[in-house]
Amino acid sequence: MRGRRIALVTGGNRGIGLGIVEGLVNNGYFVILGSRNIEAGKLAVEYLDDLNASIDLMQLDVSDPENIYKASKYVAKTYGKLDVLINNAGIIGNRKKSLKEGDIEEIEDVMRVNYYGPMIMSKSFLQLLQRGDDPRIINVSSGMGALSDLFGGYAAYRLSKAGLNAQTILLSNDLRGDKIKVFAMCPGWVRTEMGGAEANRSIQQGADTAIWLSDAKDAESGLFYRDRTRINW
Ligand code: NAP
Repeated sequence: MRGRRIALVTGGNRGIGLGIVEGLVNNGYFVILGSRNIEAGKLAVEYLDDLNASIDLMQLDVSDPENIYKASKYVAKTYGKLDVLINNAGIIGNRKKSLKEGDIEEIEDVMRVNYYGPMIMSKSFLQLLQRGDDPRIINVSSGMGALSDLFGGYAAYRLSKAGLNAQTILLSNDLRGDKIKVFAMCPGWVRTEMGGAEANRSIQQGADTAIWLSDAKDAESGLFYRDRTRINW
C-alpha cells in the first residue's frame, strides 16, 4: 500500500458512490468501499470485477456512531492513514413535504444520515486524515441545499444539505492549520435510485467532480463545486 492513495467512500455500493469508487480505482487509488448492507456491498465489488483487488469492502452505517467508531478503528489498524474521505451516503426523505407539513421524526431521520453522518465520519477519521498525504474530505451535497433554493418541498433534504454545506465551511476553517482540505460538491441531477430515470446525467457525470476533488491541485478548500467549477452556497 506504500505510496498509494487510500480513499473511503460511504454508500459506495450503488449509485453515485459506486461511480466514485470505480473512478478512483481507475485513477490508481485503493478504495475502502463503505456499505450499510454487506451483501449489497459484495454485489458491488463483484460488479467491479477486475478492479476488486484495489477495493476493501467495509460494513458502514453512517447513522450509527458506534459503527463509525469501529470502522475508524479498523482503518487505523489496517492502513494507519486515510488520504480522502468521501461522505456520499444520503437519503432523500419525503419529497413532497414542506417544513410546515413535515414531521419532526422524518426530518430527524434525514438529518441523522445526511447531516450528522458526515459530521461524525469527518470527526472520527480526522486523526487518520492527519497522517494522510494531501488529505481531503469531500461532502457530496446538493444544489437543493443552496440558500437561494430553499423552497418547493423536500424540506428535510434541503435542510440537511444546507447544514452539510455550513459544516463544510466550518470544518475547512478549523482544519486549515492541519492542511486538510474540505469541499462540498453537487453531482447535478443523476440517474440513480434517488434521482430517478428522468434525470439528465449519467452516474459517471455525477461522480466526476468528487473524483476530481480527490487530488485537484487548484481546488480551494471551503468551497462548493459542480462540474469542477465553484458554485454559490
Ligand atoms: P442512491 O442511489 O439512493 O444511493 C444512496 C446510497 O447511500 C446507497 O449506497 C445507500 O445504501 C447509502 N445509504 C443510505 N443511508 C445510509 C446509511 N445510513 N449508511 C450508509 N449508507 C447509506 O443515491 P445517489 O443518487 O447515488 O446519491 C448519492 C449522494 O448524492 C447523496 O448524498 C445524494 O444526496 C447526492 N445527490 C444525488 C443527486 C441525484 O440526482 N441522484 C443529486 C444531488 C445530490 P443502501 O443501498 O444500503 O440503501
